[in-house]
Amino acid sequence: MSKKIIVIGSGFSSLSAATYLSKYGYQVTILEKNKSFGGRARKFNADGFTFDMGPSWYWMPDVFEKFFNDFGKKVKDYYSLKKLNPAYRVYFGKKDFIDIEDDLKKISNSFEEVETGSSKKLIKFMGEAKKNYFIAMDKIVYKPGQSIFELITLDTFLRLRYFITNIKSEVGKYFKNEKLRKILEFPVLFLGAKPENTPAFYNIMNHADFGLGTWFPEKGGMYRVVESMVELAKEVGVKFKSDSQVDKILIQDKKVVGVIANGKNLSCDIVVSGADYNHTEQLIPKNYRNYSSSYWDKKVFAPSSLLFYIGLDKKIKKLSHHNLFFDVSFDKHASEIYDNPQWPESPLFYVNFPSITDNDMAPEGCENCFILIPIAPDLKDNKEIRNKYLNIVLKRIEDIAGEKISENIIYKKSFCVNDFISEYNSYKGNAYGLANTLFQTSIFKPKIKSKKIKGLYFTGQLTVPGPGVPPSLISGKIVSKTIMQDFPNQ
Ligand SMILES: Cc1cc2nc3c(=O)[nH]c(=O)nc-3n(C[C@H](O)[C@H](O)[C@H](O)COP(=O)(O)OP(=O)(O)OC[C@H]3O[C@@H](n4cnc5c(N)ncnc54)[C@H](O)[C@@H]3O)c2cc1C
Repeated sequence: MSKKIIVIGSGFSSLSAATYLSKYGYQVTILEKNKSFGGRARKFNADGFTFDMGPSWYWMPDVFEKFFNDFGKKVKDYYSLKKLNPAYRVYFGKKDFIDIEDDLKKISNSFEEVETGSSKKLIKFMGEAKKNYFIAMDKIVYKPGQSIFELITLDTFLRLRYFITNIKSEVGKYFKNEKLRKILEFPVLFLGAKPENTPAFYNIMNHADFGLGTWFPEKGGMYRVVESMVELAKEVGVKFKSDSQVDKILIQDKKVVGVIANGKNLSCDIVVSGADYNHTEQLIPKNYRNYSSSYWDKKVFAPSSLLFYIGLDKKIKKLSHHNLFFDVSFDKHASEIYDNPQWPESPLFYVNFPSITDNDMAPEGCENCFILIPIAPDLKDNKEIRNKYLNIVLKRIEDIAGEKISENIIYKKSFCVNDFISEYNSYKGNAYGLANTLFQTSIFKPKIKSKKIKGLYFTGQLTVPGPGVPPSLISGKIVSKTIMQDFPNQ
């Protein structure tokens, strides 16, 4: 008889782990507390608008392709991708912006217009980023983070300086202009830490950005990826149950024997949890946990977010699909997230209008608008604060981009710290898990395997390799391989 596995949650990491495990012959059931699947990448429909609730940047298409290839499939068997041009726009002030186009040559021309000599420097910088990307993909990110020896290879040794310097100083060596520096520091924000605390090796994200491009899953946006992965998972035999919150992991003789979900005992041999790590550990007795509450207190968490899902009764003319508002101090906002956690005085923010690319995501003549303000986790969150920040960002969009939108809002919903906690059982309402600082990378991440209970595993953005959709897919693969080694299927 093949082993029975319960996978907690249906985020990208759980979907990935479940699909691999089912393909390897285990009996796999996903239990998801919410009504729909996809975790932080769920969608909702309201008044004719379709909103992706979380991720909106489709980066590293190679990782998605590799995932589907592992099952003898291709991405294009499930969804089609459009490369965005411009990939995104960065605002620095009133009508002062730089469009990042869809190819490195064009981007280097834009750089040259800002700083003489920077196009050549960019090509050199990107050459190094590309080398690091391939080393990361071939030698590091698919490893389980169990031993320091995973990291010691000739390639990593030769590029040691990238692990002991940070991305801010690395970018600063090449470029003087503050705008260009900000553009090159932006991709590491996905990794959840300040650029000065992120190893320079993470310039792999610059290759993901300028080298590989920004894509959009056609006919539905990011949720198309969730739908496709659910479809593939079902094809290989994974069973799905929504509205199934796991309240307890059952243990006997230091072995997993089942879970309690919705008051019912469900037996299994192995549990893989893609729910937030800290929450999963609350489902087992204290003495069996891998980490204490003081361990979590000391960790650097990636930010939480204040999100707005907005329906507009007009089409947008003066902004792009993805827009970053970097018109205020980056350092001050970062310090309000990491050093002295508080609501930001003047936040940087991100706005996207997916219906510019996919008409079907909004009713005819309307636009779908998503706004994200990164904030520290665990901040006080209430209706008044949310409204205050909505007014701040709407005014900035109108002043800086010159596009009137406040009077065109026909649908509005917000999502913040309290929702991250209630909807996803997220620790302190974090949005993207743990920050990828040097001492929270690879072997320093929370372990994917319980140290005290046989049959309990962890996956997702709090484990290796870290936050983001592509890392979550990789995390599912890593945990499934570890389970295969520990519990070979007869
Ligand atoms: C607003 C936002 C924007 C983002 N933007 C991007 C982006 O543009 N590009 C990118 O690559 N990444 C982005 N990310 C990050 C990316 O979305 C995440 O890293 C990834 O989706 C995390 O997947 P996961 O499987 O680790 O966790 P989750 O998606 O959180 O999945 C965990 C699941 O477990 C379920 N669960 C929790 N507790 C229980 C329980 N007790 N029983 C049953 N189920 C339970 C939850 O409901 C949830 O479905 C963004 C994230 C957010 C929040």
